[in-house]
Amino acid sequence: MVHIIDLKFQGSTESIAAFILESDIGPILFEAGPYSTFHTLKIEIEKIGYAISDIKHVFISHIHFDHAGAAWKFAEHGANIYVHPAGLPHLNNPEKLWGSAVRIYGAAMEKLWGVMEPISLDNLVPLMHLENIQLGEFEIKALHTPGHAIHHIAFSVNDMVFGGDVAGVCIGDGPVVPPCPPPDIHIEDWCSSIELIKKLNPKFLYLTHFGLVKKPVQDHLNILENTLLKYAEWVLKEMETHSDISIIIDSFQSMVEKLWLENKMDEQIIMRYSLANPSFMTVSGLIRYWTKVKGVKWN
Ligand SMILES: [Zn+2]
Repeated sequence: MVHIIDLKFQGSTESIAAFILESDIGPILFEAGPYSTFHTLKIEIEKIGYAISDIKHVFISHIHFDHAGAAWKFAEHGANIYVHPAGLPHLNNPEKLWGSAVRIYGAAMEKLWGVMEPISLDNLVPLMHLENIQLGEFEIKALHTPGHAIHHIAFSVNDMVFGGDVAGVCIGDGPVVPPCPPPDIHIEDWCSSIELIKKLNPKFLYLTHFGLVKKPVQDHLNILENTLLKYAEWVLKEMETHSDISIIIDSFQSMVEKLWLENKMDEQIIMRYSLANPSFMTVSGLIRYWTKVKGVKWN
């Protein structure tokens, strides 16, 4: 049984999720959320009937703060933190991770994400591609799924996949969109990762932003891939006419807002999307892809 926990990030519902899978050997946590929502996570875990110290296994899709920020607190209580080998050193020594986030978020950093303490190597478990971890009755398979981040893992358990961010963002009845923050966006890798999940053909797909996908999973993944390609092409076209990133961000924001209004989304859902997936991030992530990965000359 999977419990979807709403971390109520910045007071908003359905923005960031964590998941508890109940097993014979106790609760297994997928995603830890940012440390700023740890208190909410603790309360919700207690409502399900467990204490934080009952959580001995924490699977992290990738090391961004909205997914891994609170992992250290579980490690402090003795949990194993399972993570991509390329992400592991950053959880052991989060200084660099923190530093690059400060450049993006500035003074808002701590309010948004809380603090991040180093996790001892004894608590960090690297997962190889297709590696299986048997926990009670569940076999948890790690799928290395780059595209959103080089250190991204989606987890396959029976007919379920916990898709992290590579499986997209879909909130309420809103559209399916790809979250594209810098610095690792890689369109070709992302499309291959989507293919990999499609081939598994899971019945249930869980998104960190947010929850269980309502559409048929294949439809969801097809829309995600199309939108990803569309966003990437859109940004490339803008780069041809504008050398100022703030103009591209504004015009991207109007493009998606128009799309959302056509979808008859209410303002609250639009705000949740902006929290999970801000436009300035998507534009800078995609510009970085075009310039660094594809060698497009710009600006
Ligand atoms: Zn995320």
